[in-house]
Amino acid sequence: MSNRAFNILDDEHSLRAPSPFLEPARWPPNESREQPRALRGLAQIVDGGLCHRCGSCVGICPTGVLGLSDQEYPQIQNLSACTDCDLCVKVCPGDEFDYERIAQEQFGTSLDITDTHGVYQQAVLSYATHPTLREHSTSGGLVTGILLDLLERGEIDGAVVISSDEEHLWKGKPIIARTKEAILSATKSKYAISPTNSVFKEILEIPGRYALVGLPCQIHGYHKAAELDDRLKERIVLTIGLFCHAAIEHEAFEIIWESLGQKASKATRFISRVGKHPGAPHIELEDGTLYPVYFGNHSGFRPSSMEMINILYRLYTPPRCLTCFDALAEFADISVGDPWMAPPGDDIDFLHGYSFGLLRTARGKEIYERAVRDDKLVSYNLTDKEARQCNKKMATEKKWRAFRVIETQRRQGKSLPAYGDPLRTFPRHAGVQFLETEGNMFTHMLCFLPKYRASVLRFFLGEGGYALLWLNNKRRRVKFWLRDTFAALKRRLYGRK
Ligand SMILES: Cc1cc2nc3c(=O)[nH]c(=O)nc-3n(C[C@H](O)[C@H](O)[C@H](O)COP(=O)(O)OP(=O)(O)OC[C@H]3O[C@@H](n4cnc5c(N)ncnc54)[C@H](O)[C@@H]3O)c2cc1C
Ligand code: SF4
Ligand code: SF4
Ligand code: SF4
Repeated sequence: MSNRAFNILDDEHSLRAPSPFLEPARWPPNESREQPRALRGLAQIVDGGLCHRCGSCVGICPTGVLGLSDQEYPQIQNLSACTDCDLCVKVCPGDEFDYERIAQEQFGTSLDITDTHGVYQQAVLSYATHPTLREHSTSGGLVTGILLDLLERGEIDGAVVISSDEEHLWKGKPIIARTKEAILSATKSKYAISPTNSVFKEILEIPGRYALVGLPCQIHGYHKAAELDDRLKERIVLTIGLFCHAAIEHEAFEIIWESLGQKASKATRFISRVGKHPGAPHIELEDGTLYPVYFGNHSGFRPSSMEMINILYRLYTPPRCLTCFDALAEFADISVGDPWMAPPGDDIDFLHGYSFGLLRTARGKEIYERAVRDDKLVSYNLTDKEARQCNKKMATEKKWRAFRVIETQRRQGKSLPAYGDPLRTFPRHAGVQFLETEGNMFTHMLCFLPKYRASVLRFFLGEGGYALLWLNNKRRRVKFWLRDTFAALKRRLYGRK
């Protein structure tokens, strides 16, 4: 019997990627030779909605056949150079990622796919000691602090990070940062889809030692690429995974940019989070001043980056992100995210920025601890219980949503990502988990009905949306006030624990 309360996946085309790869117009003109079998396979992956735009296929192609489309899908740019070697298909983590096998290789143990946090040796809260880094980082600067330490020690020649595109400032641009300045200027999360692993090409061309910062799917792509080419295994000495609820389709940022009107043409930089945790997005103008991206004409309440990102996720989560269940970068050496937990106490100025880190491998732990000894990072160990509360909500939502979407797509005969055994079935929802997942699916309805979402986003960027966000903010303040008051009362009655 079906366990669906309603079905929002039935629209015939709803889950399909925009299919840029297969569009005949995108195949280069004057190419009369038969299209190689591997490229047909890659086209099926993209057309089947399995491409999460990690860039691995572009980065591993030995003959430079593939480039990137405007939306960051792989695109054929030099068909005649294709040798049909199949590397681009074999590397693709969107199509297949063997959770069990890679977990055994990396950690020597199986992973429970319903476990939100994966394998780790130690969980920490941390911030960078560099005089301006903590303030200019996304969370607390753990990621950049480690990269700087490795570079200063001469243990890496560069780090794979995401800088900003010069033309579309909101867009991420994967680069290898080889200087302290370049690493420092690439802080801050870029929430738009960014094909990080396309820089494998440069790593393969230029010998050296590198650290890779990537989203969970990009770390999956790294593992597959390293199996296919030993040079990547040797040259990438550390992987730092960022937690990820989802990346956001470019269209959302185009609409946001349009909402800035004249101000957008004067922008020199887009900064995803400015101010105390979690901060709010701003643009830097030609004269160096910062202007808020959302509701710059309002004084008083202004939504935080997280409030707006919550809306963007409901509208613009890409198709493949809906079938992705690695939330906390389970296959990285070190995984980093925001400390979404109750403020840990008066002695820690939580809102000034902390990164939450999971030190997963021995190599990750050693490098982190050395950065602490080198005075690059301030570190607080968390207990297992504390760590497992942090980001639990996001990761649980993401996992169970993915199980639900995959099983629905299976019934519908659509393309499915293979996570090891291609016949694997995923846990079935029951009880409270069932209700929560269906509620979550409902809020993502417009991801499956993309033609309506632009109007909804424009509404949220207007006065009506502002009023709703204002009301939601008041509701949350009351909720937090009640939480803190009860916590204080409990402390007074039972003593601090
Ligand atoms: C798309 C996306 C979704 C995220 N979702 C969550 C979430 O749901 N919950 C959560 O707790 N944390 C999430 N994060 C992680 C969080 O935003 C911070 O990146 C993380 O806490 C690290 O902070 P930091 O101060 O230590 O990093 P910083 O010192 O600021 O360094 C960040 C590093 O990440 C690189 N980077 C930026 N954008 C990208 C990108 N798109 N792909 C690869 N590398 C990138 C930068 O170049 C820089 O090197 C997300 C990040 C991204 C990019
Ligand atoms: S390797 Fe990455 S970018 Fe290439 S098709 Fe697969 S998911 Fe898409
Ligand atoms: S990786 Fe091989 S099969 Fe794929 S595009 Fe490049 S040359 Fe062709
Ligand atoms: S949700 Fe998964 S597929 Fe999407 S960007 Fe994040 S890690 Fe990649």
